[in-house]
Amino acid sequence: NRIDDLQRSEEELKGLYTNLRFRYQEYQNQELKLDMSRGKPCPEQLELSKELLTILDAKEPIQARDGTDCLNYGGLDGLPEAKELFAEVLSVSPQEVIIGGNASLNMMHDTITNAMLFGLPGSELPWGRLPKVKFLCPSPGYDRHFAICELLGIEMIIVDLTPEGPDMDQVERLIAEDDQIKGIWCVPKYSNPEGITYSDRTVDRLATMRTKAKDFRIFWDDAYTVHHLTDQPDELKNILATCKEAGHPDRVFMYTSTSKVTFPGSGIGVMAASEDNLTFIRKKLSIQTIGPDKVNQLRHVRFLKNAAQMKQHMEKHAAIIKPKFDVVLQKLEAALGDMNIATWSKPNGGYFISLNTLDGCAREVVAMAKQAGVTLTHAGATFPYGQDPRDRNIRIAPTYPSLEELEKAIEVLCICVQLVSLDKRLSEPPR
Ligand code: PMP
Repeated sequence: NRIDDLQRSEEELKGLYTNLRFRYQEYQNQELKLDMSRGKPCPEQLELSKELLTILDAKEPIQARDGTDCLNYGGLDGLPEAKELFAEVLSVSPQEVIIGGNASLNMMHDTITNAMLFGLPGSELPWGRLPKVKFLCPSPGYDRHFAICELLGIEMIIVDLTPEGPDMDQVERLIAEDDQIKGIWCVPKYSNPEGITYSDRTVDRLATMRTKAKDFRIFWDDAYTVHHLTDQPDELKNILATCKEAGHPDRVFMYTSTSKVTFPGSGIGVMAASEDNLTFIRKKLSIQTIGPDKVNQLRHVRFLKNAAQMKQHMEKHAAIIKPKFDVVLQKLEAALGDMNIATWSKPNGGYFISLNTLDGCAREVVAMAKQAGVTLTHAGATFPYGQDPRDRNIRIAPTYPSLEELEKAIEVLCICVQLVSLDKRLSEPPR
């Protein structure tokens, strides 16, 4: 019932095609409604953090360690204990941390918007006054990073992603010759969607490389820093310390959040950078807001406590989602393993599995799956401007559906991958 390889006789392939079409039709008849489009925690994962809702006792003062009344105005950049907790998570000092609002993406957006309007420490002009601003975008990558660039008119340049991180030969060459390149997006650990973690060598090269723009910045979105799926987690070298050692302390802005630790949308966002960078950010923050949600910060600190406790909490997440990743990987292997029509990532953490079809097939596969009731992230989303130059990457988000739903959804996906590949092969002129 499978295409073991696409070199079979045309007659055999046509037989397989008919069989796959039949199975596809059967799934269509089931009127499925399965969604694997966004990396959302499932309800069982959200249960793990329900204590957050009751951890503060209304009969006690809602006070931070330094006596700050969290129910009132006061404090711009985060409670001291929250800074300490995330300083530990990111291996930086508390003075290098700002705790923000409910998520980190808006902190990234605001940093870049501020750079466009005012420039950053080291800028001669606001970026928005330059004829052109460009960012390097290691791809496949995170669609919402690319959306920020698109919104602000920042030209995106695709850089290949290797198993060690961005192709540093490409990065170094581009960055040394073009002063319009002001930034690079990095998801350095369990990257979205490839699941790769940057090697030490990549971190060293990013920190030491010669940049033509004096105010070049690395946007280091360490969103999945504690999201391990195994007990042998990937290790990521500390970028801020490495930049400092290289004499470029202001080169990096780091970000993380608890969106997929506690509650997406009601977590806390965090950024870290050199003290000069943070002085600049605080100045802008003081106009943007009187202060963040300290109640939420206090709840989070009381609940998560410290990095060791957070690690235990994340192990509970892994216990729920690891079987889902395993099901996807097993199903992909069983259906497509020896066929040479697809490859996929096998991540040690994070939220995604990245599937590459044959060139020119991803859009059609996603459309076919949709017609059978399986919603995937739209093809192309993992590349700047929503355009995958090879039309082959599909991001699978296994965490939200139940195991049963996931099994079905991946079966449908595998049928679609086979059908589209076969269709392509059968329509090619005979060799
Ligand atoms: N960065 C990456 C790489 C992500 O995958 C996500 C969530 N999908 C975010 C940031 C969003 O984080 P937050 O909720 O803190 O804005």
